[in-house]
Amino acid sequence: MNYFEILDRIKPRLPVATPVTTVGAAAPQPVRQPVEIPRQEARSLVVDGPQSTFVTVPVETAGLNFEDYRTRITGRLVGAEKANSNGQFWTSGDLAFGVGSVAFGPLNWLHEEKRIIGTLTSADLITPPQTAAAGEAHPYIRAESVVWSYLFPGETYVIREAAARNKLYYSMECISRQVECVGPNGCGAVMAYQDAHAKNDNACDHIRQQASARRFIKPVFQGSAVIVPPVTPGWADSNAELMRAAASREGQQISRFTDDEVITAQILKFVAGANGR
Ligand SMILES: [Zn+2]
Repeated sequence: MNYFEILDRIKPRLPVATPVTTVGAAAPQPVRQPVEIPRQEARSLVVDGPQSTFVTVPVETAGLNFEDYRTRITGRLVGAEKANSNGQFWTSGDLAFGVGSVAFGPLNWLHEEKRIIGTLTSADLITPPQTAAAGEAHPYIRAESVVWSYLFPGETYVIREAAARNKLYYSMECISRQVECVGPNGCGAVMAYQDAHAKNDNACDHIRQQASARRFIKPVFQGSAVIVPPVTPGWADSNAELMRAAASREGQQISRFTDDEVITAQILKFVAGANGR
């Protein structure tokens, strides 16, 4: 424990051997009776951290609700049949191939790959019903995730603020076997993912110059970022929202903020502080 200092271990009292006293030089040496110490677990730990003191107790005696310790998010992760603003494109078949790789992937903060704040828990390929009123509705992957709020209270706070303003987004991370040059400027060339990513001589001119869209053939999704203002997502429809239980609980806490400038200032201040730690 070089980071925390344990102040106390609160345990059930152990039986203590009765001290044997001797009086006078002639008294015989005491015979120490062995005392059987039953094996017992600590019921509680009081731990002093650098900025906080933690009291750790078993969940079953504290009556805690584990839902209070995580924040559940659901939202659109990635859409098919239309290139996003980053020039990334998937067919419905590509998403059908890749949807199985989404669940259990990492959920990070603003694409900071070492700042994993939770995990993707499930994903489904949704095909919206085609109706004249709805216009062009393309398939997409809807993903659920949890944020480990007890480990990342600051990020959780920002996520809940952003969700209350419909400005919480997913941003997926993906590799693929091959990349195809598509879109209005696309030539249809197919190249290895590594070549397209490196924009090397094996990639076509359009991919190298980012003049076309990139279709990811047989994609593997490697996780997602949580995106909050002022960062904007590549796919404008990648809105995420808090799942009902968490959203209702946070309703009152958010009400003192009145506009986007305030939340943006809060987030910038938070990010600046987080980067300095
Ligand atoms: Zn091309």
